[in-house]
Amino acid sequence: MDPLLVAGCAAGGLLIGDALEPLADRLPKKLPLDRPWWRCPSCASPDTGVGRVPVARTAGRFGPCLSCGATRSHPARPAVQAVLTAAVLAGLAVRFGPDIGLAAYAVVGIGLVAISVIDIESRIVPNRILYPTVALAAPLFVLTAAVDHRWGSLWHAGACAAIGFVAMFVVHTAYPKGLGFGDVRLAGLVGGAAGWMGFRAAFVAFFLMFLLGSVGGILQLAITGAGRRTAIGFAPYMAAGTLAVVIFTMPIFHVVHPLLYRNGS
Ligand SMILES: [Zn+2]
Repeated sequence: MDPLLVAGCAAGGLLIGDALEPLADRLPKKLPLDRPWWRCPSCASPDTGVGRVPVARTAGRFGPCLSCGATRSHPARPAVQAVLTAAVLAGLAVRFGPDIGLAAYAVVGIGLVAISVIDIESRIVPNRILYPTVALAAPLFVLTAAVDHRWGSLWHAGACAAIGFVAMFVVHTAYPKGLGFGDVRLAGLVGGAAGWMGFRAAFVAFFLMFLLGSVGGILQLAITGAGRRTAIGFAPYMAAGTLAVVIFTMPIFHVVHPLLYRNGS
């Protein structure tokens, strides 16, 4: 482990996660991503005072707007996004170290955090985050393959992206209310990200997604009594299953392997 790299990725994650807030605020409302980037959702005036200080502004969001006095509808969201992004990037830095592959997975991790936060609130997998994430990550994986001579990993990633997309498309066709088409598109991204680790990693990632989704759905039903209609989207489970397998590959294999392969093979 490279402590400087991990600390740097955590700090970068705080900054980037903090910068994601306007996406979470505006994309579900179909508002343009125009300037000023940091502004009050009610009166659209640019943030002032602590609101201009990166990361520190996440604390300022708990208070009312200094211009119009409106309180935020999601005061904790910026802080949660910043901490989540920092944790994901630090975890990836521990896993990969100073490797070009870290850049590819960092892009995927940031995209997955942003998509998950929006999907939890609005049940939308926004293409305006998904497509740029794929467009940035794909060339970085190709570059990693070229630099580290990992063309086999690239082939696995491409194949698993296609298999993930098709498999989820079949589930979507069978049960469109349970799995939206946004989740099908996202399956291409997470299939590719997990598939870089190999076919078995991708299989375990999808197994974890459905396991976490089932447990999450049951917990939500038990705690809130909410029905299927109000259940949160599937994207956070897809993100969690994928990032878990990517970051904790071997520990997860040790736990999951005996469950999946009882015959000892
Ligand atoms: Zn305001």
